[in-house]
Amino acid sequence: MFIETRVGPRFTAPHRGWVEVVCGSMFSGKTEELIRRLTRARIARQRVEIFKPALDTRYHTQDVVSHNANSIRSTPVALPDEILLLAASSDVVGIDEAQFFDASLVDVCKQLADQGTRVIVAGLDMDFLGRPFGPIPALLATAEFVTKVHAVCVCCGELAAYSFRIAASEKQVLLGETDSYEARCRPCFLSGMQERPGAPTAAARPH
Ligand SMILES: [Zn+2]
Repeated sequence: MFIETRVGPRFTAPHRGWVEVVCGSMFSGKTEELIRRLTRARIARQRVEIFKPALDTRYHTQDVVSHNANSIRSTPVALPDEILLLAASSDVVGIDEAQFFDASLVDVCKQLADQGTRVIVAGLDMDFLGRPFGPIPALLATAEFVTKVHAVCVCCGELAAYSFRIAASEKQVLLGETDSYEARCRPCFLSGMQERPGAPTAAARPH
């Protein structure tokens, strides 16, 4: 489990910010982990703000809601730049569903950390095709602390790192996850992808 190097104001100093990333597949507990860290920061009397992309309206427009229904009030923003303005007086900034923001999120997180803010980013590391997702790869490279959390494969019970899309859509952003996706391990993700309509046949597949 991730333990903060510092959690309270006693140990904070100007220009002592940093970036943490919590990444993984769907159903891996990313948001629960984000909420756990933010709750601990609140107990340490830190000023905490939470942001999420305005397009993520799956559950509620005002709350960061995890799948076990623990929620923290959050502010939906359309662009990462808005976080800089809205988080000016925060000690700790949480950003949920970060994969949906554009690449400018990386610089926004850097600026916040450079100014002394602790930044905790949670997001999907891969999309439904297993490709690195949005700004997350660059955030992984530039963060001080990286935590990859895993789900459990619904097919075989092994650790799952992939989000397998049950729905037929080919759009990268598809909301409404509980009925559209399942967590799968590598072999079960692979076999599922090969059974999808339009997948290359065994003969046409590169070896
Ligand atoms: Zn599996």
